[in-house]
Amino acid sequence: MKRGFPYGQVKMFTAGGHNVGVAGPPPMGKYPSHNGVSRRILHDVMYDEAINAGVKYRMGLTVKSIENNEDSVSVVFTDDSEGTYDILIGADGINSEVRKMVFGEFKPHYMGLSVWRYAFKKHEDLDTGYMYYGKRSKIGFIPMSEDSMYMFLVSSEGADNPWIEKSAYIPMMKDYLSEFPIKIAQDVMEQMTDPDLVNYRPLEASHLPDPWYKNRVIIIGDGAHATVPQLGSGAALAIEDAVVLVDELENKQNTEEAFKAFMKRRYDRCMTIVNASETLAAWELLEFEGKALPEGAHPGKLIGQTLGSLMAPF
Ligand SMILES: Cc1cc2nc3c(=O)[nH]c(=O)nc-3n(C[C@H](O)[C@H](O)[C@H](O)COP(=O)(O)OP(=O)(O)OC[C@H]3O[C@@H](n4cnc5c(N)ncnc54)[C@H](O)[C@@H]3O)c2cc1C
Repeated sequence: MKRGFPYGQVKMFTAGGHNVGVAGPPPMGKYPSHNGVSRRILHDVMYDEAINAGVKYRMGLTVKSIENNEDSVSVVFTDDSEGTYDILIGADGINSEVRKMVFGEFKPHYMGLSVWRYAFKKHEDLDTGYMYYGKRSKIGFIPMSEDSMYMFLVSSEGADNPWIEKSAYIPMMKDYLSEFPIKIAQDVMEQMTDPDLVNYRPLEASHLPDPWYKNRVIIIGDGAHATVPQLGSGAALAIEDAVVLVDELENKQNTEEAFKAFMKRRYDRCMTIVNASETLAAWELLEFEGKALPEGAHPGKLIGQTLGSLMAPF
């Protein structure tokens, strides 16, 4: 929180700037609703903590093969070194190689939406997160530190997930932004000049069926439950996974019991976010395509209920 930007509930608006509500849980005790932080600073913080905690790590290598036995796991690394361990935790993201080696091929599915991101000096009016819903895209502004913020823009580039040339990034983003006649959008448009600073990413999701472990290997984070960012909670869930796994490993008699207890505490909570995020993404896609939402669809209610449910103890 010291190095990020703690902020309150996200304010939601129409494209023209009319407020339609807020999203996110209210602050809890000394903790804010949200803490904006850049990935780079988050990595720095985690790196420093890992060093302080005496974690042994090696960079620039990966796992070549895994022999996953009932009571131990043996690994050969890409530098041909080997090791035998009590457990192996695969925290290697949406395209997890560890998952592939242990559970087989699992292809993430493309959701028909893409996100464009660009970081700026923090706008003077930005006191919390802001989100604006247009007809062709939605945009949001998130503070990351006292003096920085980023903008995300969600659009639909087509069912075939086309390759977009870098030279098209800035003109396309500006075209989408022209739908938002609000000061902050107009101000950032002027500052968007360098396509190398654009992070364009088609949105994908995937989840591994329960259980996320086999013998002595367990998958956590995006490797187990990659969610589209419609509820901005994937990293939060990944961090929770790690906390709960350590808790269970410390408190249970054996690994199997700890892994089972971990699944009991994690599966439903993670899937609530994964499923709701995919539903919101599917509705957004319909909006951008100018189609009607299914009967009973209520994005505001789904966002409120799902984020509210995260306040439950885990
Ligand atoms: C556009 C967007 C916005 C998001 N916004 C939010 C948000 O606001 N809040 C939030 O909580 N979450 C958000 N998320 C989700 C968040 O980024 C992920 O859920 C989170 O990063 C998952 O963490 P992870 O550690 O499981 O995987 P990752 O962050 O993907 O980390 C995996 C690590 O494993 C390494 N790795 C991969 N393969 C190998 C290999 N073979 N060998 C060795 N290492 C390997 C990678 O280099 C990487 O360091 C967002 C995601 C997207 C796409």
